[in-house]
Amino acid sequence: MRFDSRMLSRRQFITHSSVAVAALSAGCQTHRSSKSMTASTTQRPLIVSTWPFGKPANEKALATLQSGGSGLDAIVAGIGVAESDLSNSSVGAGGLPNADGVVQLDACIMSGPGHQAGGVGAIEDIEHPIAVARAVMEKTPHVLLVGAGATQFALKEGFPEKDLNTPQAQAAWREWKSKQTGEKGHDTIAMLMLMPDGNIYGGCSTSGLAYKIPGRVGDSPLIGDGLYVDNEVGAAGATGVGENVMRYCGSFLVVEYMRRGATPEEACAETILRTARQDPKGIDLSINFVALDKQGRFGAAGVGKGFDYSVTYPGFSQVLHSLALSNLEVKVIGGHIR
Ligand code: ASP
Repeated sequence: MRFDSRMLSRRQFITHSSVAVAALSAGCQTHRSSKSMTASTTQRPLIVSTWPFGKPANEKALATLQSGGSGLDAIVAGIGVAESDLSNSSVGAGGLPNADGVVQLDACIMSGPGHQAGGVGAIEDIEHPIAVARAVMEKTPHVLLVGAGATQFALKEGFPEKDLNTPQAQAAWREWKSKQTGEKGHDTIAMLMLMPDGNIYGGCSTSGLAYKIPGRVGDSPLIGDGLYVDNEVGAAGATGVGENVMRYCGSFLVVEYMRRGATPEEACAETILRTARQDPKGIDLSINFVALDKQGRFGAAGVGKGFDYSVTYPGFSQVLHSLALSNLEVKVIGGHIR
């Protein structure tokens, strides 16, 4: 089954107008095929991550593979770079705390082969939640552990206990606490990987929304929301306000659109437009998706000005800009929001 006619006309609109404009303004046209506007490579492994901080993570993942590591080793090592980077205030050890001043981290991992998954939510005092997510996947019959149980599991597995509250994060929290307003930053690393043998892996890690209600878990550790891998089709990952992804199973939806014939970029765009059509917030969602497919095509889309994402394969590692979707596309293509 492919798209219905309304979807097709939206896709044509996207392909021939707004996407073209966005692609040209982003200066990425050398990396997009003129027809689908989704870039493609025959090089393997292909690694795609959210945000510019995904680039050193991708490069570490590639180096891990090149030195004989497995796909899962590469996901854990790559995302581990972002988790250890104290200048990154939205992932791992440098992440901003919750409203009580406690850093709580979310992560998940998926293996295309065997369709395996593991995740942790609101884990504390552990620097590498992505590695714990892998342990949940490989060593327990469960998919998701949260809160104190997740931390206890990690400690039992031998992960070192670490106070994650950096002086910078503490100072930012104190400032927020005194005013109860101010910048509430958030970002996520979602990493997708197509291996030379065609297998697909993915991982996702974040400290979530800064100053969130203690115990809040976002989209990032939830399979189908922050990350989804289907070894027959491709993979997708999300970054942005998790609540606006979780209510629509965003990453799962991206993969399902690809299954029905959309390119990765079209699939990300369709997911955002569908969400914006239904959501009371319209396009004001702060959500972004990256995707790759089994053929080695990749792409991304985000609301507003779009967002930067990182693409790495042998001989190439760059930060690219996604397709940007505004109210115009929702009004013209979506048909329901006026
Ligand atoms: N999706 C993350 C969350 O809601 C934050 C982000 O990626 O910006 O926890």
